[in-house]
Amino acid sequence: MAKKWNLIIDVARCDNCRVCFLAVKDEYIGNDFPGYSAAQPAQGHNWLDIRRKERGIYPILEARFMPVMCNHCDNAPCMMAARGEAVRKRPDGIVIIDPEKSKGQKQIVEACPYGAICWNEDAQVPQAWTFEAHLLDEGWTRTRAEQACPTRVYRTIQVEDEEMQRIQAEEGLEVLKPGLGTKPRIYYKNLHLLTKCFVGGTVVGHVGGVEECAAGVEVVLKKDGRELGRATTDTFGEFKFDKLEPNSGGYQLEATASSECFSMRFDLGEESRYLGVMTLAAAIT
Ligand code: SF4
Ligand code: SF4
Repeated sequence: MAKKWNLIIDVARCDNCRVCFLAVKDEYIGNDFPGYSAAQPAQGHNWLDIRRKERGIYPILEARFMPVMCNHCDNAPCMMAARGEAVRKRPDGIVIIDPEKSKGQKQIVEACPYGAICWNEDAQVPQAWTFEAHLLDEGWTRTRAEQACPTRVYRTIQVEDEEMQRIQAEEGLEVLKPGLGTKPRIYYKNLHLLTKCFVGGTVVGHVGGVEECAAGVEVVLKKDGRELGRATTDTFGEFKFDKLEPNSGGYQLEATASSECFSMRFDLGEESRYLGVMTLAAAIT
């Protein structure tokens, strides 16, 4: 079986420095790579872009970032929309929009369900990130983005599909919009940081009549009476449960510390939630 290119992106490591974004611009703006891509215009095209997602509210608030680009799908809708083999799948998995054959074929832009294709008005061609195929064909083993990224977000790997499936299962990798059946070759690690919700809160107790953050308190999250997970409050009395489905409805929360406890019910909608300050009180026996 042939080895094919794949890219793994760990969103937990991305801090939005945008060096990869610039590296891709540097590679393609004004540079023609015959057979691979026409020059990228100086303005308006982001073949690699960085998306941002904020979760939660103060004091448990975070911003996460995710690089996005052409997914080099194995079942590529752009390919199906193209005429005259203007888009082709190489044996190594890379999808190339031919800069000559695709001239005038604006329908290719609309066909991509990921919005990964830009229209070059001057050259009248659809364009997307080429996986730096022109460099890989010269013996490169890493993309420009991976080479530029200071926090090691990217991993470019060339393996057989079976090996990639094993890596995907082992590392819990996800692809974008899997329900479309497009079979992307760009895999995301820790994608829940952008696609799932968390709930967090602060537990306080009373020590000598003074309210204090309650550290080391065990908090249990339940749904329909079934335990989903446990967390322990930190030195600020804060706890957090992650990887919850948006719009997943009602939950129960129970916090217990020696003879005191707290419990509440809440609903989870579209966004992550800070549940507020929870005050431990003497358990009723
Ligand atoms: S992400 Fe879009 S442009 Fe890239 S291969 Fe898939 S359908 Fe085509
Ligand atoms: S270079 Fe790395 S850390 Fe910076 S934006 Fe790109 S992926 Fe994120």
